[in-house]
Amino acid sequence: MRTDGIFIGIEVDDEALKSEPALARHLDAVCPVDIYKEVGDGHLEIVERNVDECVLCRLCLDVAHLEVGEDAVRVIKLYDGGATLE
Ligand code: SF4
Repeated sequence: MRTDGIFIGIEVDDEALKSEPALARHLDAVCPVDIYKEVGDGHLEIVERNVDECVLCRLCLDVAHLEVGEDAVRVIKLYDGGATLE
């Protein structure tokens, strides 16, 4: 799934969410500006109105990397030509 704001896009691999049911809960827990919301068991919603509030803290990338692997979550800097947050 992917949701774009004006400055930031957020992409989460649907297969990663299926393979690791705790990922949605943990993304919901770590993001300081509530971009991720767990809706039901293991399901995730990207909260569109909050996407541009991203502070580039990388916590979601770290959680995804630990639980599933690299590239399960991508934070895309639309203001920077679509570069991904590393
Ligand atoms: S980088 Fe930080 S603020 Fe941005 S979506 Fe990930 S956890 Fe939320």
